[in-house]
Amino acid sequence: MDELVKGILKDDPILIVSIDDTETVEYARKIHDTYPTATAALGRVITAALLLSFNLKEKQKVMIQIRGEGPLREVVAEADWLSRIRGYVKRPHIHLGLKEGKLDVGRAIGKGMLYVTKDLGLKEPYHSGVPLQTGEIGDDLAYYLLKSEQIPSAVSVGVFVDTDNSVKASGGFMVQVLPGVRDETIDYIEKRMEDIPPVTSMILDGYTPEKILREVAGREVEILERRRPEYYCPCTKDRVLDSIAALGRSDIEELVDKGDDLDVQCWFCKKNYRVSQEELKSLLKD
Ligand SMILES: [Zn+2]
Repeated sequence: MDELVKGILKDDPILIVSIDDTETVEYARKIHDTYPTATAALGRVITAALLLSFNLKEKQKVMIQIRGEGPLREVVAEADWLSRIRGYVKRPHIHLGLKEGKLDVGRAIGKGMLYVTKDLGLKEPYHSGVPLQTGEIGDDLAYYLLKSEQIPSAVSVGVFVDTDNSVKASGGFMVQVLPGVRDETIDYIEKRMEDIPPVTSMILDGYTPEKILREVAGREVEILERRRPEYYCPCTKDRVLDSIAALGRSDIEELVDKGDDLDVQCWFCKKNYRVSQEELKSLLKD
């Protein structure tokens, strides 16, 4: 069962978050009908957003947006304070040849940017971006955390796609070095990073997120919190109307001139909404 676990080393402030989100990513694959390389990219971005969701407070949200020159174009995932997630990939029917036996997410994404938007309930959301380092997502998120949030981190995310194209394992972990950590502990944890197996192999071997966390730590940890991630889209007809209203007057007038009802599909959950001419006209009144 999908789970996110947060813990901290007992003797030094190093925070570790680990996750198994295999079911959530498989659900996303089914909704979006992704091909394996696209599945891996979407799954990794979903996992990355869930890892970032660990410290959100009530009503807060975080979104990761990857924009690249590669064939996938754009991959987005948004997680809320309950670690509920939704996401999409702009071009889901992308599958490239393997690179060293692995799905080539880096090439499918290509050169580009990683953006993080945090809605912390303040007036304006916090928004920041960094150039992609490898397009493999884990390294890119670690780079973002260092450059934009000044948090030295290591991030590992992985998706294993089975021969029938379903998701057999998806998960990750993130290590954050908090202020006041002793140098020898940093050296120690860096050494651990080099030695531990890929996260998907651990999940395939039956490791729970807690066991992955303890494997990464290699010494005593205190477990702080557990959550159950799930795929969830809060879209409603009202929100669809709001997004049409945001297009602006002239675009809405154009839609009214066409005289047809408008079919809108949610990017995140594929739900269809029909917007009638009357509804379009009422948007013009407001
Ligand atoms: Zn939706």
